Amino acid sequence: MKKEKICKAIHQYSDEKIEREDMERLLDIARGCMDVQNYVYQKYGGIKSLGKIYPGYTVQNEMTASGLREKLNLPSVYFYPAVFNALREIKTQWAHVKRNIYTAINENERLTSEDKHYLRFAVKVNGCFENILNGKPVQIPGEMLPKYESIVSDLQGDHSQRIENLNRYLCRQVRKKLRKMHTQKYLYFSVWEKGYRYGKSKNSEGQDCYGIFLTTKERRKRIFVPLTDTNQYSGVLDIKLKPDKNSIEIVASLFTDIREHKDYTNEIGISLGLWEMITTNTGHVYGSEFGRMQKELYGCAVTEHHDYGMGGSVPPRKKYVVRREKMEATLKNYINREINRLFTQEKPVRIYMAKLPQNPGGGVDAGQYLMRVWKKGYVIERLQWKCRKNAIEIIEVFGKGLSAECSQCGTLCERQRQNRYENFRCENCGYEEDRKINAAKNALNRGKTGRQLNKVFPIEESFV
Ligand SMILES: [Zn+2]
Repeated sequence: MKKEKICKAIHQYSDEKIEREDMERLLDIARGCMDVQNYVYQKYGGIKSLGKIYPGYTVQNEMTASGLREKLNLPSVYFYPAVFNALREIKTQWAHVKRNIYTAINENERLTSEDKHYLRFAVKVNGCFENILNGKPVQIPGEMLPKYESIVSDLQGDHSQRIENLNRYLCRQVRKKLRKMHTQKYLYFSVWEKGYRYGKSKNSEGQDCYGIFLTTKERRKRIFVPLTDTNQYSGVLDIKLKPDKNSIEIVASLFTDIREHKDYTNEIGISLGLWEMITTNTGHVYGSEFGRMQKELYGCAVTEHHDYGMGGSVPPRKKYVVRREKMEATLKNYINREINRLFTQEKPVRIYMAKLPQNPGGGVDAGQYLMRVWKKGYVIERLQWKCRKNAIEIIEVFGKGLSAECSQCGTLCERQRQNRYENFRCENCGYEEDRKINAAKNALNRGKTGRQLNKVFPIEESFV
């Protein structure tokens, strides 16, 4: 049985200043790769190429035949990764477009449920979707045909007229949502395994050091870049150039097995907080020290300001940075440990949580400041990553009114005080509960009753 893998990004850094000549060579490669990506965007980013991008061999072959690689004098170890990066971005955009169309369909009140059924089918089935967009007759795979016919027969009125209207609606939606793609990232490229080698060489002072050799446009000429660690990775590497600092950053992908837990069978709702990191619907708290540790970090920032004014003997900035870094590392460790503890104790197969607002509201009091330094982004990122690694589904539910709703009778109690020490108290049935537990119960309720937002997570963005 093929085991599923999950990808984790690892970072490596160059150890000393890269010679200007070498940096120029790298910049030249990066510019070439940018040109390749833009070429792919232009040629394959549109509706007409939708049939070519899955699984992508056609694009690869056509790109080989295009002569662009020779024209740019770009080694294939850089050329093809650039092609695949662009292709991946195009696929990501299509995935976003489809997701947006699903939302538009769901929210459109003029469509009947039969219409919506048809549209969702049309978007989902590849041979169907691309042919509709290109004005060609649909080609339904044999095994899907009975389903298609039954969906069509459910449509109201003249079926063919209705289908035509719905298809036009689909085309309009795509036209509205599909963007022309273009990149101006000229400081970034990827390299195949054949294009690099880890090893030892002399640095500028003649000392032996570890680093990486990178292929250049010139035959047999390789650039040696000393690295801060001696780790060696394989597969495609992403290289980020920082010419202003004469340095580079390498991002390698480490693949680990997804671990399935047969004994994880529970469905739970969770609520994230500033003080208690995670509260479950049964009232278990993970990360009870979360708020206190963050406040310490925040306090650290204030102290630094103070020290500076007093003019201490140790350069305050450095002292502060070291202390802060140490505290951050401790906090991150703590977050990871507590998420692990949640898994082993709750044994969840599915976790429901509120969709969080993109930006916590503006404001300048201390609470808002805490909100900004709050490691919320990190908690969510770790939670999602660990869930995927442990084959746990994490599902976002509609977050609106989640903490104001009574989890027992469903009444929306708008007049709840925003005091974290005060319990939630229902205006209707009198139910009283810790507000975080009440919110977690609502997340579970909403998840179980299908008021889910998405089951997909932004896997595609992990590279950039
Ligand atoms: Zn109630």
